[in-house]
Amino acid sequence: MKIASVHIYTYELPVLDGPYTMANQVVYSLTTTLVKLVADNGLFGWGETCPVGPTFSESHSGGAVAALAAMAKGLVGTEVLPVPLHRRMDGLLKGHNYAKAAIDIALHDLLGKHLGLSVSDLLGGALADRIPSYSVVGISDPDESARLAVDKRNQGYPRLQIKVGGRPIEEDIAAVQKVWEAVGGSRTKLAVDANRGLNTRDALRLCRECTNVPFILEQPCNTIEDFQKIRSQISHAMYMDESCTTINTAITVAGTGLVDGFGMKVTALGGLHPMRAFRDICAARNLPHTCDDAWGGDLIAAACTHIGATVAPELLEGVWIAAPMIDGNYDQKNGIRVEDGYIKRPQGVGLGVVPEEGIFGEPVASF
Ligand SMILES: [Mg+2]
Repeated sequence: MKIASVHIYTYELPVLDGPYTMANQVVYSLTTTLVKLVADNGLFGWGETCPVGPTFSESHSGGAVAALAAMAKGLVGTEVLPVPLHRRMDGLLKGHNYAKAAIDIALHDLLGKHLGLSVSDLLGGALADRIPSYSVVGISDPDESARLAVDKRNQGYPRLQIKVGGRPIEEDIAAVQKVWEAVGGSRTKLAVDANRGLNTRDALRLCRECTNVPFILEQPCNTIEDFQKIRSQISHAMYMDESCTTINTAITVAGTGLVDGFGMKVTALGGLHPMRAFRDICAARNLPHTCDDAWGGDLIAAACTHIGATVAPELLEGVWIAAPMIDGNYDQKNGIRVEDGYIKRPQGVGLGVVPEEGIFGEPVASF
């Protein structure tokens, strides 16, 4: 089975009850990019990538379309298997993992349909059908953060992530303390994510003034050197997110003990095939991690849920998907939803979700 044609679509996803706020941006709406891979036997698979704005990482929606268009023609004729696909993509374009991820996901969907297997089977096999998710408390007034945290805990989320950064550190410290006062007794796991938005001075102060709060500190600063500076001075566990965009970096920072785990996105590494390797490296080092979206709809959410289902439950920090902040589904019947803080693993072959015919309109490019 070989790739016969590649079709690229874009689709607007307004943020429900927005905006979504992080240290470095405020998001009201995002453009997602979809890929439909059609095989020479007529079967097809869908993939998706949706950078969460242009300043979260080195990715943006216009870049996704351009990178996909640069690779698409050269992918026609490639075997529908992950190793030949990634070798071919890397031979056509250096980097641009977030665009490659959409093709990788479409290939797994297509291959699963061809073999009669779910994507989690292709990735080694699911260990669970009910996958823990987590919810984000965006940057807001400390009392509002506490109110939101209680609301989300009451919705059933086993884990909350509090965004910090981009404002005086005193306000971040107050927000973390207020959230802990509100939900601390409930066994809700907490992560504090600065999305690269702190300098080391403020990251150290945050940790020192919150030694009573057992949070995981996620991506506090911008660089690996900053991680190295604060590592020995804090008692909180530290996870890497935006700074880890390759398997090579994951091996280095896991191998040198720089981190205690990862916030990891399927699109950051280039899709499910590299994510599988990452999962196994983390398992070898006993390091917990997430399996997240950047943003996007049912397709990327299904991909994240399938890989999350194959992670040892004791190492899975959760699968964050944008579904609670998106109005509607691509697949009305099998679309991905978070219910009581958990996601049901999609059943059926491939991703287990099929976008309604014509929902994305005409392709912006076909090859
Ligand atoms: Mg993060």
